[in-house]
Amino acid sequence: MQGMTAENFTPQRCRNSLIPYYHLEWNDLAPECSHCYCALTVAHVLLECNHYNVVRQRYFNVSSLHELFEAVSAQNILGFIRDIGLYRLL
Ligand SMILES: [Zn+2]
Repeated sequence: MQGMTAENFTPQRCRNSLIPYYHLEWNDLAPECSHCYCALTVAHVLLECNHYNVVRQRYFNVSSLHELFEAVSAQNILGFIRDIGLYRLL
């Protein structure tokens, strides 16, 4: 499968790529974040997890997934995902 780039990026594809990973990894309906033990969701990783704050601040500062996918460029979203080590999933 070809990796995601700014050209073929879509919010749908981004979410669909991340969600199955968490369910496989933790095999649980409500997996926990390994860094802070909050419920692990796409929103948690992209917006909320304190563990990624420093990296996240370099790329965007938004309060919802809707805002993220509306206001932030695909390049920045992908840059963030790359820096936190999850780009291989996309
Ligand atoms: Zn977390």
